[in-house]
Amino acid sequence: MLHLLFRSWRVLGCLLALTLPPISRQEKRGKLLLVSFDGFRWDYINRVPTPNFDAIMKEGVQVERVVNTYITKTLPNHYTLVTGLHAESHGMVANEMFDQHHNRSFSMEGQSAYEPRWWEEAVPLWVTNQRAGGRSGAAMWPGSDVEIHGVYPTHYVPYNASVPFQTRVEKLLSWFSGPEPIDFGVLYWEEPDESGHNLGPESPLLDVVIADIDEKLGFLLEELKRAGLYDDINLIVTSDHGMTQLSSEKIIELDSYVSRDLYTWVDKSPVVGIIPKEGAFDEVYSSLLNANPNLYVYKREDIPEHYHYSHNERIMPILLEAREGWTIVPNKTRKIMLGNHGYNNSLASMHPVFVARGPAFQSGYTKDTMCSVDLYPLMCYILGVRPLPNNGSLASVQDLLLEPPPVTPPPTPTPRVLLGSWPKESSYAWVVELLLGTSLVVFFLFLFVKQVTQKQQLPTLPHINREISKPLLYEELQL
Ligand SMILES: [Zn+2]
Repeated sequence: MLHLLFRSWRVLGCLLALTLPPISRQEKRGKLLLVSFDGFRWDYINRVPTPNFDAIMKEGVQVERVVNTYITKTLPNHYTLVTGLHAESHGMVANEMFDQHHNRSFSMEGQSAYEPRWWEEAVPLWVTNQRAGGRSGAAMWPGSDVEIHGVYPTHYVPYNASVPFQTRVEKLLSWFSGPEPIDFGVLYWEEPDESGHNLGPESPLLDVVIADIDEKLGFLLEELKRAGLYDDINLIVTSDHGMTQLSSEKIIELDSYVSRDLYTWVDKSPVVGIIPKEGAFDEVYSSLLNANPNLYVYKREDIPEHYHYSHNERIMPILLEAREGWTIVPNKTRKIMLGNHGYNNSLASMHPVFVARGPAFQSGYTKDTMCSVDLYPLMCYILGVRPLPNNGSLASVQDLLLEPPPVTPPPTPTPRVLLGSWPKESSYAWVVELLLGTSLVVFFLFLFVKQVTQKQQLPTLPHINREISKPLLYEELQL
């Protein structure tokens, strides 16, 4: 009889444990600063002395090459870093887009960039962090000055390219050290992308720009030390994409193959969206297919699966992709840049840099490669935030961490719990179960007695439900 009673207490204890919120890392939240130097290719740190990148690698970790997401342009990849989603899933599929459903255009550099609807196919990490009780600060990160799902970062600076790097750093660090400190910060800097386009990555003049970025990183490290944040903060320095050299000899002129009257052109080389005019799809497609050996032509539904770039209506019905180093233009009257990105994301030249240091990371550890989608679950783990569904994998990058996440044991099947026997080993676990079970029985007895004695005084159940359901429903809709 006593045995049976204990068995029932064990079951009640398990039931109670199921009703409790899962163990989270909320009480162990780490501070995290994510920095992106736009267009910083993975191997730039090997061409000039970069003592500050070296210092981070020595104290922390390096991933030699990050495989970013297709298309290897600024906006798709910056949104991937903070959502863990490929472009077809987060919806920011290009720097310039056209929504055929709503007949609306988007440009990263125009007012349309402030329309929330473009961003709301996903939820960036600063929003999730704040919903989990954290505080976020953003200095010019793409999309961070847009109200997304009704939320701005706790602190942010409206985008203005003329604000110096030093000012951006000072703002962020003041938020990290303020009376109500942030725990997650994002920082963006436009270089070396701009110089990479203008000079070309092979130009020796770009060495000066890379050395300047390293100095800027040194300023950030010094300021972190001065603010007393250096030992506490987890710092990740990465980028959105690399850069490849272009040539005025490698030009694909679309006017040579198909009349411009038959289609609308969306976004810029090296990946261009084509919307054929009504009834002209077959003519446009067949004119371009096999027109030039350096031009890949895809119907949206035929885009290679490994690009993760077809399941979104913002991807145009025909996609043109240039071979590395080639430029797609209507005709040669257009000025050609010397460097560009956007190409196939398996090309080494498109891959960004990655270094990180801080209490969460290993020391002096180098990893060959990672996918940029894996950064999101890693950052969620450091922040103690439950990740939203994403394309990344924490398991793929957990070797970067000083303490890998505990392996979650598989849940014990219910029948085993019901048939559980008296514990053979000396353990506190069964004592806890016993206490929990006893408490639960007493609690339910108390509730039962209270219900019987006060039933007449309680308001009706439907009224209570309405009161409770409103804020919950509102929260749900925000996602
Ligand atoms: Zn660029």
